[in-house]
Amino acid sequence: MTPEMALATDLFARLREASADPPGVTRAAFGEGEARAHDFAAQAARDLGMAISHDIAGNQYMTWPGRDRAAPRIVIGSHMDTVRHGGNFDGAAGVIAGLAAIRALRDAGFVPEQDIVVMAIRAEEVVWFPTPYCGSRMAFGLLAPGDYDEVTRSDTGRSLAEHIREAGGDPDALKAGARPLDPAGLRNFIEVHIEQGPTLEQTDHPVGIVTGIRGNLRYRHCAITGQYAHAGAVSRAYRHDAVLAGVEFVSRVERLWDQNDAAGRDFVATIGEFWTDPQMHGITKVPGEVRFTMDLRSLDNAILEDADAALRAAAAEISARRGVAIDPGAHTNAPPAQLDPALQQAFAESARAQGIAAHAMPSGAGHDCATFAWQGIASGMLFIRNQNGSHNPDEDMRMADFEAAVRVLADALRRLG
Ligand SMILES: [Zn+2]
Repeated sequence: MTPEMALATDLFARLREASADPPGVTRAAFGEGEARAHDFAAQAARDLGMAISHDIAGNQYMTWPGRDRAAPRIVIGSHMDTVRHGGNFDGAAGVIAGLAAIRALRDAGFVPEQDIVVMAIRAEEVVWFPTPYCGSRMAFGLLAPGDYDEVTRSDTGRSLAEHIREAGGDPDALKAGARPLDPAGLRNFIEVHIEQGPTLEQTDHPVGIVTGIRGNLRYRHCAITGQYAHAGAVSRAYRHDAVLAGVEFVSRVERLWDQNDAAGRDFVATIGEFWTDPQMHGITKVPGEVRFTMDLRSLDNAILEDADAALRAAAAEISARRGVAIDPGAHTNAPPAQLDPALQQAFAESARAQGIAAHAMPSGAGHDCATFAWQGIASGMLFIRNQNGSHNPDEDMRMADFEAAVRVLADALRRLG
């Protein structure tokens, strides 16, 4: 085993042991498991001669000095919290991959032009604090001042501010608008993460090169209002059946998806919670009401805007014809994150040079990397093939695939200089 793989294997084992919560592991954001994960990473980084520092939001920076200490840094980062009874690799693999790559480069006598920083990012899993990319957004001062007291951890009920203070941070300075990280001080941000879907496993690639992070349009309160009526006595012409209208609307969503697929436009759609109210509905009633949720995602916000317009037009047309009201309700928009083409090319060249099969693919799930990309920092992501998905105790990842990702990362860092 190479020294960098020994380092990684040891760190994964210590993490698993320290955060075991059968089945799986639990590392709550700003909890004991996350704190110990940061400590283990810091210890390994110190052994590599790296300097440890923290920002006032509790994020941890492990710095390998370059020739020009003032030059914009390359930051490699991911989160170390997990969902409850989650897997050991989601998040932590990115931090450990950064340390392992630095170990390999250092052993090869490489000295980077600029500092390379491994960042352990706080609080990414929204199950703990229901605000996306909490740790990375705090690093750029992007949370609203009110969030620090209003956003509470799901299990403790205590505010984000209290948890930050307990971890040694300064929520008051953050509330006052502090921005611990200056985007101008970062040359690149790179996140290595296990893939959370089956694509790499199905296509037999150990490593994925992420082309972009899908943005979304989320409609949490779609409603169709028809008219309750007798299931036998009312003939078809006089019905305003909310379920049939809903089924037609859903089929229009899928047709739109087909059209986007045919045109090579990135798009995915998910409809759920499709229900009639059991208090109001009965088997002898024509359903008068349906509620559902709709989640649309794409790498291109224009495609999402087009989808919104097309589906609103479809809703109006179906509503008029069937005598119902289809109301998609309020929606939120998280824009997609564009990842840097030059970094993708560097990863592709590194994979080729290392003889590692890499697959270009979008990320359907959100990651801290999106925060950095939104700040205008040239950002990139590598996926590691992973068995059994993530956010569950059966999450798995072959160490050989992790090693492949570390080799691509180290080679790309060498190319970046
Ligand atoms: Zn993650």
